[in-house]
Amino acid sequence: MISKRFYSWGSLLTIILLTFTLPTTSFAQTNHANNKPYTDIAREIIRTALAEGQAYHLLAELTALGPRLSGSPQAAAAVEWSRHTMARLGFQNVRLQEVMVPHWVRGPIEEAAIINSATMGTIPLTVCALGGSVATPEMGVVAEVVEVKSFDELKTLGKKAEGKIIFFNRPMDPTKINTFEAYGGAVDQRGSGAIEAAKVGGIAALVRSMTTRLDDVPHTGGMQYQDGVPKVPAAAISTVGANLLSQLLAQEKTVRVRLKLTCQTFPDAPSANVLGELTGTEKSEEIIVVGGHLDSWDKGTGAHDDGAGCVQSLEALRLLQALKLKPKRTIRAVMFINEENGLRGGEAYAREAATSKEKHIAAIEADRGGFAPRGFSVDTDSTRFARLAGWSYLFEEIDAEKIFRGGGGADISPLVRQGVPGIGLVPEPQRYFDYHHSDNDVIAAVNERELNLGAAALAILCYVLAQEGL
Ligand SMILES: [Zn+2]
Repeated sequence: MISKRFYSWGSLLTIILLTFTLPTTSFAQTNHANNKPYTDIAREIIRTALAEGQAYHLLAELTALGPRLSGSPQAAAAVEWSRHTMARLGFQNVRLQEVMVPHWVRGPIEEAAIINSATMGTIPLTVCALGGSVATPEMGVVAEVVEVKSFDELKTLGKKAEGKIIFFNRPMDPTKINTFEAYGGAVDQRGSGAIEAAKVGGIAALVRSMTTRLDDVPHTGGMQYQDGVPKVPAAAISTVGANLLSQLLAQEKTVRVRLKLTCQTFPDAPSANVLGELTGTEKSEEIIVVGGHLDSWDKGTGAHDDGAGCVQSLEALRLLQALKLKPKRTIRAVMFINEENGLRGGEAYAREAATSKEKHIAAIEADRGGFAPRGFSVDTDSTRFARLAGWSYLFEEIDAEKIFRGGGGADISPLVRQGVPGIGLVPEPQRYFDYHHSDNDVIAAVNERELNLGAAALAILCYVLAQEGL
């Protein structure tokens, strides 16, 4: 114990001496001598993020604007907030990239679903329309419910499905360690449930919420219709509601539900991506993009999805600036609009990048929640992948050194299709779907230190890419 304490004081003394004897610009030289370049810079970024990080404060400001569904006044306010914040933080070339976005509104009147059971009487279900759904008639739709676990099972029902409300009740697989995999294995019910229900003559779709948590909070999310297939209303019910409905269906021959939705789709609305930069000192025409999406669903305030990724990207640039680290290449923060129900922002960005022949070195996206970072998911060729993996030691101190192959993120996917390496920040995944697309996704669900560590990981990666290229 004693010797350990002496050792600590010794280290402290060394740090103090180094602080006084070395100018900040000598970080890299010191590190190259160890054959572990950027180690000291990475440590300094982490220390600064934890000691005086601004990400949580920025997230508080952003989420105070309210939910930011594309086309809403809150989304417009978030665009203005981003522009203002980037300017205030001293970023360069702050600008809006205008784009038209879909404009869907949940509706002025409360949405509702009520079970009518022979043994239990009427029981309300907590429900919310899926994003993009049509409304029900004013009095709602009333019909018997049939439960299925898959589209294949639905197809076997034949006539039995006609005129019914189709209840999709396949849970996210709890045995998957990666919850995003579990989500991927269940989300077809939300995305295409209305189409499949209508194809067999169903009159509405009720979908079990995409969450591993058992609670009474419904989770919304995107859904599609298909040309030539009738548009039927679609709503999510909570996991508690789904279990109750399933239990009643097992006990009783017929269970009826009344569903009422009042959503509306308006013409596309003007909106924008927001861009700001730390301009490179040597190769300013070479760009590293780091971003998240500014829009959210209209439940909760999009704190994890994706307020966290937005403020972490802003914070990454702010940290580098605060430490007076001058990137050789340009680091550009992008607040993408409309990831949730259109991806128009991501597409517009890639289109403009191609038209103006900008050279993108890499695109990094943070859109998996503001939890403690664990690594990066990388979509590029094997040479670049190996280079990135070679820098994993920089993230070991914060347990974020896992660098593996996988998708970068939705907003940067159009850029990746043009050949730009895509990188996704990967945080700890167990709790994300507790909050995702629901009233649970508020700033109280975000931990400040975890958020800061994610921002530090982004800052380190951006800086190394800006200095070394890829
Ligand atoms: Zn998201």
